[in-house]
Amino acid sequence: MKITGIRTHVLKSPLAQPFAFSQGWVPTRSATLVEITTDSGPVGWGEAFAQGMEAPEISAAVIEHALAPLLSGANPLDIEVLWHRMYHRTRDYGRKGSVVAAISAIDIALWDIAGKHYGVPVSRLLGGAFRETVQPYATGFYRIEGQGEAPRLADEALQHYDAGFRAMKIKLGFGVDDDIAVMRAIGRAVEGKGVTLMVDSNHAYGRTEALRLGYVLDEYDLRWYEEPVVPEDIDGYVELRSKLRTPIAGGENEHTLYGFGELMRRGAVDIAQPDIGSCGGVSALRHIAVLGQAQGIEINPHVWGSAVAQAASLQVLAALPVTHHSLFARGPILEYDRSSHPFRRELVTEPMSLEDGVVRISQGPGLGIELVPEALERYRVN
Ligand code: CA
Repeated sequence: MKITGIRTHVLKSPLAQPFAFSQGWVPTRSATLVEITTDSGPVGWGEAFAQGMEAPEISAAVIEHALAPLLSGANPLDIEVLWHRMYHRTRDYGRKGSVVAAISAIDIALWDIAGKHYGVPVSRLLGGAFRETVQPYATGFYRIEGQGEAPRLADEALQHYDAGFRAMKIKLGFGVDDDIAVMRAIGRAVEGKGVTLMVDSNHAYGRTEALRLGYVLDEYDLRWYEEPVVPEDIDGYVELRSKLRTPIAGGENEHTLYGFGELMRRGAVDIAQPDIGSCGGVSALRHIAVLGQAQGIEINPHVWGSAVAQAASLQVLAALPVTHHSLFARGPILEYDRSSHPFRRELVTEPMSLEDGVVRISQGPGLGIELVPEALERYRVN
């Protein structure tokens, strides 16, 4: 079996209403997909992480100019071999960011091909499924004004609750006083409803502000406090972890077994959050899961991107062991972004959805999705 073609699809769709997270305004949906063809038939799909302010052309260029030449004529089933080839050959200018996101896209597509070749879901290739459904948490609470939106965000919490979500993650990082007002309003809105809350400041603060916010957050029995400080400040993570009761999470801006190994060795996080399209793909998530298991650190993937990244994340979520086994052990939960996103709804024949409060994980071969060619063409810009 040989790889015969690697094609990137850069997708864009302007948002009717731009929204903000703590790092800026997001005007456009974008995605970098890769399609890998083979001489024996199976076609694999993968995706590179592209956060709202990142040009999707960067990962596409890495795939086209740096990675595709390394894979020409290779056997797509040599997934681990090819991962190391891509990583080592880009080390001197890669290791992080869009280069590793590009590796991730290729790696996901190779796992998709392998699953289709063997006629099994990727979770089976990873050793089998610990779960066939996963509990989702609602991600949302983006800002449309910037500050002073606590009442609207409290209403949004009730909408997530009415839609069946019993866990939700609040975007913070818009000034500590505004954040506290938002927490108070949402806390009151969901009080007594059995809702699990998490927060995410997208590294908006330095240590002093992150701690000031953190002491208030400690009142709320949160499942986690995500990206409290910039990813470079590992000592800051360690300090917050030692001073706060709330578990500290992070990792969507970290990469590979090397980056996560460092986070874990230094005791930076209680919960590590690799993103499949950014950490190095399915292979890297598997490496990171083993590291976490060895050190008692929960792995709870960050999930962003189109229906392709969502499907790949679900396969890995199926195959993730619980970190601390018990009769009523806590498993990973699925990040389910509730904002409007055409690349999630339209790109595949069966988009991810909530049924009876859970998300069902596909048992189809590979990633278990079928792309819709017309939708790809509608949003393709390259
Ligand atoms: Ca986040």
